[in-house]
Amino acid sequence: MTGKELQEKLAWKFPDIAERYPEQIETAGRFCEEYKQFLDRGKTERECVARAAEMLEAAGYRPFDRKASYRPGDKVYAVNRGKALIATTFGTEPAAAGLRLNGAHIDSPRLDLKPNPLYEKDGLALLKTHYYGGIRKYQWSTVPLSMHGVVYLEDGTKAEITLGEKDGEPRFCVTDLLPHLASEQNGRKLSEGIKGEELNVVIGSLPYEDTKDVKEAVKLKVLALLHEYYGMTEKDFIRAEIEMVPAYRAMDIGLDRGMVGAYGQDDRVCAYTALRAEIETKHPVHTTVTILTDKEEIGSVGNTGLNSDYVLHYIQKLAEREGADYKEVLEHSLCLSSDVNAAYDPTFSSVYETRNSCYVGKGCVLTKYTGARGKSSSNDASAEVMAKVVRIMDEAGVCWQTGELGAVDAGGGGTIAQFVAGLNVDVVDLGVPILSMHSPFELASKLDVYHTFLAFQAFYNAD
Ligand code: MN
Ligand code: MN
Repeated sequence: MTGKELQEKLAWKFPDIAERYPEQIETAGRFCEEYKQFLDRGKTERECVARAAEMLEAAGYRPFDRKASYRPGDKVYAVNRGKALIATTFGTEPAAAGLRLNGAHIDSPRLDLKPNPLYEKDGLALLKTHYYGGIRKYQWSTVPLSMHGVVYLEDGTKAEITLGEKDGEPRFCVTDLLPHLASEQNGRKLSEGIKGEELNVVIGSLPYEDTKDVKEAVKLKVLALLHEYYGMTEKDFIRAEIEMVPAYRAMDIGLDRGMVGAYGQDDRVCAYTALRAEIETKHPVHTTVTILTDKEEIGSVGNTGLNSDYVLHYIQKLAEREGADYKEVLEHSLCLSSDVNAAYDPTFSSVYETRNSCYVGKGCVLTKYTGARGKSSSNDASAEVMAKVVRIMDEAGVCWQTGELGAVDAGGGGTIAQFVAGLNVDVVDLGVPILSMHSPFELASKLDVYHTFLAFQAFYNAD
């Protein structure tokens, strides 16, 4: 055997998708046209759930009824408080043989309005915000923002807000200093370039028409318009959830159109690919449980986050209807914790370890562990789980790679995997490499998005 032959036999290098499957560049491009529409229509967890439910209904899914009888291939879904969703295709094997779980999150970093947000200062009307999730605050000023959310009025009716997405609608914005006056601000550390209490959103600049005996006429004009559009008063902000997010649409990046640039790809890229794979899975062996969850970005807390028991209770219902012990169901299940990872960025190479980073265009990334400071707060997937998932992807011809979240001690992070593992379920992280993660404009390779979809399809269809 020559040295070259031996090298081919023994050494391993992750393939480049465009080299291995050049014909898939076009397929991935088409797939991502629909992905971009999903991003544009779902900029909050509530909007993603509504859109997902529409897609599921159109594909024949019906609300899960624990008393109904289901046959293999039947499709159901359940919504948790309008902010999380679970979809299932019943398998030919009973639940006790184990489920195929796939959990992605549909919340993304953003600016939430405070409960009492509206004020006027020196002729401008502004909104106080409290950022949600890990953001680099300086990235969020001078970005056009749209307003999304729900508000409950005095009479109990719900008003839904989506303002700043359609052509012709107004947008909103956090201001920043001009360079001419920024010498003091320029001396701040980057993490304090814009401080939390400086993330104030401009919402108005004109006074109400009748200013006689009126203090704060600009604020009044804003209140008058909010009342005209949504029937709300200032008090109603307290019974509202309003999120300010980037107002632009998803777009192609690069002359070759190889990437998607958009807000909220962490983790709607996994949510969309999981949803598409779930819908296209017709006759799985194992019953599927596709979870689109909320609150991952702030630690999976709350009753719509994965650290609550809502998924456990759903699985208990699946088990009960078959007379199975849910503990046995959990023990035999396999889960993908589907979340993005940090793609290697040649401009900032020092925070990555090149041999264990994921790269744009080399496929979905299988992340054995996340965590920080010695794998702390991570689910460290076992060799057995890695072997199972690698086999499934290799047999389906899926391009995959491994990745750590940055070099050791460069930082770190967590996903939902630790909470799934807490249910006594085998789980590993898998997702899409992302550039500029958590910024208002994240990048993903279309080929990686497509191969993540292929990975989920293979996972659902495997025995
Ligand atoms: Mn994520
Ligand atoms: Mn994230």
